[in-house]
Amino acid sequence: METKQTTKTENTKPKASGKPRPIDGNPPAKKVLSDLVDNIYNDAWEAKERGELIAWTSSKFPIEIAKAFGIHCVYPENHAATTAAKKDGLRLCKKAEDMGYDNDICGYARISLAYAAGEPSDSRKMPMPDLVLCCNNICNMMTKWYENIARIHDIPMVMVDFPFQNTGDVSEEKIDYMVGQFEYAIDQLEEITGKKFDQEKFDKACDTANRTAAAWLKACNYMAYKPSPLSGFDLFNHMADIVTARVDERAARGFELLAEEYEQSIKEGTSTWTKPEEHRILFEGIPCWPGLRKLFEPLEEAGVNVAAVVYAPAFGFQYDGIREMAAAYSKAPCSVCIEDGVEWRANMARDNGIDGALVNYNRSCKPWSGAMPEMERQWRDSLDIPVVNFDGDQADSRNFSEEQYKTRVQGLIEIMNERRDERLSKGEDQYTNHDNTEISELEKKLNKTSDDKNKQAQ
Ligand code: SF4
Repeated sequence: METKQTTKTENTKPKASGKPRPIDGNPPAKKVLSDLVDNIYNDAWEAKERGELIAWTSSKFPIEIAKAFGIHCVYPENHAATTAAKKDGLRLCKKAEDMGYDNDICGYARISLAYAAGEPSDSRKMPMPDLVLCCNNICNMMTKWYENIARIHDIPMVMVDFPFQNTGDVSEEKIDYMVGQFEYAIDQLEEITGKKFDQEKFDKACDTANRTAAAWLKACNYMAYKPSPLSGFDLFNHMADIVTARVDERAARGFELLAEEYEQSIKEGTSTWTKPEEHRILFEGIPCWPGLRKLFEPLEEAGVNVAAVVYAPAFGFQYDGIREMAAAYSKAPCSVCIEDGVEWRANMARDNGIDGALVNYNRSCKPWSGAMPEMERQWRDSLDIPVVNFDGDQADSRNFSEEQYKTRVQGLIEIMNERRDERLSKGEDQYTNHDNTEISELEKKLNKTSDDKNKQAQ
């Protein structure tokens, strides 16, 4: 239901005066980062040809340990996401179903299991594994998925078990348990590789992981500016980098450049988002990779910018020392209790200033989607924003309907328009506690937010 006042507001909203530019003397961060993922896969192929070990690794495995042994790690989740984005995911999902895997299993696992069993794909190619490194902090389904890969290839599996984080703080007993798991994984890797654990390489990997995380979180936090110098969809395009290259110095430099570009954009009034920001929303969940444009376009047409996402900053976590590292790795979107999950999102919503939320009920990701009805209820209460959901899937395009999505987005926009008009007529802010501050003030707030988020991730 459009109103007169809405039209008036649309015409007065500021918008960016141009696209961002690279930092003088440097290539565009986007180019640095997209080349990096290609390089990581090329490096892995060359290592395979030299007879070096390739590990298929879950996205939040403590990779610093593997780096202490010089193991080349590639990531089935990233490989599956890329395959899905290149529109070959459905074929591999169906292939896995023909092999006997249920269609209710996560699409990433189905794509990966079909590929592991030898099904070719024209999208990104990943060398076959010599071992698997698995960690169930992402979700418990990982364990069976990686066991099956290990069985298909008859190779060793190193498993680091992270119990579900059902309290806000990570207890000392739990940290003891996880540090014990790290020690056992090190023993296993010494046996598999025939090498001793290299403390220097481990320390260097930790330093790089922390540097990359700091730069990534800083880049994510620029969404708090109004208008934002970016869209949350830009961050989705960098997920491959933060997943595959956290301990690679080239990633640290790429994300530092990205953050510098966003800072420069704010000063120069540019943005990757070139429409007026009619609304700012939180997008919840993993995007539907095969239909990323279909997700983006209805929002773009209506001037609805994604100014908060949970998925991207979840891969930015910092720590100091092995115990903090264990605590940091114990928190991921699907492994924390509902109270933590709600607080995490509510803080982001307040920091970034939003006036609605759009939730992907991702059929592949049961642990994430299963918590959403209660989270939505709590957001509506505590943030007083409309929340609308749609049925989607990050990899299996059978589970996403473009028409349903467009209808839901339209519904959200209508409610947000009504609420905005009502709030503005009462002299209230359109957004959740958003201060449209000077750059220096928001910078202070961003640094504080970054510290808080890091503490939260630990
Ligand atoms: S998408 Fe969800 S179910 Fe699939 S691996 Fe990731 S967390 Fe697990």
